[in-house]
Amino acid sequence: MSTPLTYLNGYPPHVLDQVRQLIDGGRLAEYLQKRYPEPHAVRNDGQLYDYVQEMKNRYLRSAPPLAKVIYDGKLQVVKHALGTHTAISRNHGGKLKASREIRIASVFRDAPAPFLEMIAAHELAHIREADHNKAFYALCRHISADYHQLEFDLRLYLTHLDQQRADS
Ligand SMILES: [Zn+2]
Repeated sequence: MSTPLTYLNGYPPHVLDQVRQLIDGGRLAEYLQKRYPEPHAVRNDGQLYDYVQEMKNRYLRSAPPLAKVIYDGKLQVVKHALGTHTAISRNHGGKLKASREIRIASVFRDAPAPFLEMIAAHELAHIREADHNKAFYALCRHISADYHQLEFDLRLYLTHLDQQRADS
């Protein structure tokens, strides 16, 4: 029986075959550990806010300010490509002002550093682009150069976590 690759829906069959080979050969954990050995030190919501804010200052200085950035333990990771971003319109003295809230699934607290960078880039890019279109992904790559490889490997990482859970 082959492992369902829930996080890799939409990738071409030859890619999925390679992933299955990694899994069936018991080499997925090793692959991830080798490529992504470094954890990060962004442990709480305050640190997460600073981390995302610093990224925004560097790459999206003129975009509207972030109201809130938090780890969310209830967030379903696959649901909206791994995080959520909400634009909340508030009425300030008759003028509509958009404020931005970013929630990052708490699985990223313990994930390797590059995956946190990737998901933060994804959410920040949504400040400018609501949809997952060409301009959106160009922005993701502007913030995190290796974005596409990271997104793919993040999906492998989530597959690995599910497997660990199933085996224990
Ligand atoms: Zn998205």
